[in-house]
Amino acid sequence: MPGDLKLVSCQSKKGKTFVRVGKTIIGGERIVLIAGPCAVENRPMLLEIAGRLHAMGVPLLRGGAFKPRTSPYSFQGLRQEGLRILAEAREQSGMPVVTEVLSPDQVPLVAEYADVLQIGARNMQNFELLKALGETRKPVLLKRSLAATIEEFLGAAEYVLAGGNDQVILCERGIRTFSNHSRFTLDLSLIPVLREMTHLPVIVDPSHGTGNRRHVGPMSLAAIAAGADGLMIEVHADPEKALSDGPQSLYFEQMERLIRDLQVLSPVVGRRLQLEYDSSTGVETTKTTPLNVDISM
Ligand code: PEP
Ligand code: MN
Repeated sequence: MPGDLKLVSCQSKKGKTFVRVGKTIIGGERIVLIAGPCAVENRPMLLEIAGRLHAMGVPLLRGGAFKPRTSPYSFQGLRQEGLRILAEAREQSGMPVVTEVLSPDQVPLVAEYADVLQIGARNMQNFELLKALGETRKPVLLKRSLAATIEEFLGAAEYVLAGGNDQVILCERGIRTFSNHSRFTLDLSLIPVLREMTHLPVIVDPSHGTGNRRHVGPMSLAAIAAGADGLMIEVHADPEKALSDGPQSLYFEQMERLIRDLQVLSPVVGRRLQLEYDSSTGVETTKTTPLNVDISM
């Protein structure tokens, strides 16, 4: 392990880091889902999506208010209005919200509304942004850049920890390769390697990783089988009409199906799916003997 990755490295700390978002813990025994639209498009739409996801037991809501788009002519997000709508969805559903911050000067505003600050793939090495987030005490969801090595990815996380904020979640979201059958190449091989190198929780975004809603389910299951602590998934009430990332956004029914599949799979790898209605209804997932998939071996 390179010496300049001292705070993120396993050697610096006993056990894994638990990132706390409200009553949800990321990095513990439970698999955590973050779901919602790519972008906050309007108030009724977000409130509907939040309501449906909450009813499914999804603990955390995502949605972009500031959108990094390849084209300046594409929908850029509702900006502060989007943040206000996210806060209203949190109030109604009780779900903490995850949203992206694009620049250091936006940090105070976004931190006022968001429960988790997301650093997008294109900003992974925006060092001034990383330093600014190191100074906040909000959890940070750090997405891997399209072309980052593991050392560069961990180096970016090190910036946030060096600033005094150890609440960092790493997110694999697909990298650029010669493969052209999917939007990006979801690098699940990173998960067991990260496990050996860092105490930080690792989640996977199969939506951007595949770019195709038909492939989100299988890659979600593969990510959990490989040892991920959670998933970030794009879901939309009407994906065909979404203003961004419609082709990779799940219909509600697909999300419900995925949750059922994850409930079956999680015990096989010695985990349980965190579902918010667990405590209120006493619903328990089936306890089975885990397979021998000890990732520390
Ligand atoms: C997103 O989560 O909507 C997003 C823009 O992701 P990424 O930065 O991974 O492209
Ligand atoms: Mn998106």
